[in-house]
Amino acid sequence: VDWHPELMTGRPACDGPQLLRNFVGGEFIAGPRSFAKVSPVTGATLFEVTEAGESTVDAAVAAARAALRGPWGRMHERDRAAVLRRVADELERRFADLVVAEVADTGKPISQARTLDVPRGAANFRAFAEIAASMPTESFTTATAGGGRALNYALRKPVGVVAVIVPWNLPLLLLTWKVAPALACGNAVVVKPSEETPSSATLLAEVMAAAGVPEGVFNLVHGFGPDSAGEILTRHPGVDAITFTGESATGTAIMRAAADGVKAVSFELGGKNAGLVFADADLDAAVTGSVRSSFTNGGQVCLCTERIYVQQPVFAEFTERLAARAAELAYGWPADEATMNMPLISAAHRAKVLGHYDLARAEGATVLTGGGVPSFGDARDGGAYVQPTVLTGLATTARTNREEIFGPVCHVAPFDDEDEAYALANESEYGLAATVWTRDVGRAHRAGLRLDTGIVWVNTWFLRDLRTPFGGMKTSGIGREGGRHSLDFYSELTNVCLEL
Ligand code: NAD
Repeated sequence: VDWHPELMTGRPACDGPQLLRNFVGGEFIAGPRSFAKVSPVTGATLFEVTEAGESTVDAAVAAARAALRGPWGRMHERDRAAVLRRVADELERRFADLVVAEVADTGKPISQARTLDVPRGAANFRAFAEIAASMPTESFTTATAGGGRALNYALRKPVGVVAVIVPWNLPLLLLTWKVAPALACGNAVVVKPSEETPSSATLLAEVMAAAGVPEGVFNLVHGFGPDSAGEILTRHPGVDAITFTGESATGTAIMRAAADGVKAVSFELGGKNAGLVFADADLDAAVTGSVRSSFTNGGQVCLCTERIYVQQPVFAEFTERLAARAAELAYGWPADEATMNMPLISAAHRAKVLGHYDLARAEGATVLTGGGVPSFGDARDGGAYVQPTVLTGLATTARTNREEIFGPVCHVAPFDDEDEAYALANESEYGLAATVWTRDVGRAHRAGLRLDTGIVWVNTWFLRDLRTPFGGMKTSGIGREGGRHSLDFYSELTNVCLEL
């Protein structure tokens, strides 16, 4: 594939859309069916993508199984770690192409792709190479009835063939976050990226081949969810475990499909995250941090803040400053360095988000800024842009404050005291992340205790250490990944008990 920078302007490179193919058993393969990948910036078709059907998914699962029976399945973790580091090296060598692929598919600002999305690809492989190679073996000595001792130790083994199903919002980051630990633990993977973002996954397949990852260890199938590659993969009897990031409703569908084969699942799902701004906070930092946490990636990050609660004494000032900053966020083409706003991923997603803007008005919200669609007078008018939007005036029980919108929008409401703040934040079916702005050290720690979320950030947002547990409570997920938690999901343990 020619990853031409022209793709970032929402136009196909060369003479027309190129074909993106599946990657099975170390080879790129086309097939009878394909679908169009459309630019969110202009609406033009950038690529044709080969859709994997039953036979391609079968072949991918068989190739993965064969790889497990080969040298990969017997390789020492130290040697697998070396392979992962070669993948990281190759990802760094293809940095410019990866930026093009990621920006072309999503329309995200090039500055973000360069500093967040693409570097995290290589970082994921380096981190899990180290974590897996340095993980100690668990061991216990047990007193026996006869007065002697027994020694127990647990051996880590691969789970087998792991299906990796990921969304479109941070395509490379979320894909490698799962592929890296799965491979570090000795599994073989069949990856199904979102139909909206096929490019960086295709490039990752090129990287795997160039880095000398054995055939069949990494397989890629393109397609949709229901009645397509996603569902075929989750129902496949040859798949041993499913790791999924996406919507909570999709998680329910996948869990049903997984039940038949009693497949292990790890789910990172939706969120309706709260931000709490206390009156003692550094208000400049709270405003800047909230602009980031609500509008980064067009608000299309599972960790984004869609509900902000502000303590009464600073409510008016905070709200006014936040709305002013949201209105100032720069539009531009994705490849312009100063661009901050980005289109939503598709016309369909834009229709959903605009429906939420209408709903908010119907529920009686005050729109402090945004609420509509920007106009450019050029090809971007064919894209999927919406305005960054700040709302106020609704109860926490309003649908606007309950349903995940997944766009550049937040609702701001006041609170009086700390107990009320935690109660409001916890009033949600979701429990992924929360952000707290305060200078009170005791309160910062209490927030961690009182908030029903998998992640609590204090005076920061989206600061990640890859060794820490990551995941959600309630409908935001099942299980934790990160550090040894990833190793626990991507490996089976055999306990050996030996009487001495
Ligand atoms: P989605 O659930 O629509 O799709 C995710 C993936 O699942 C895609 O590859 C899709 O093709 C596939 N899929 C859909 N239906 C399927 C089915 N029945 N069987 C098998 N596969 C199926 O999600 P999306 O719209 O791509 O992404 C946005 C969502 O992802 C938001 O809800 C967001 O909060 C969530 N998300 C969560 C995290 C997290 O870490 N918790 C991170 C990023 C995004």
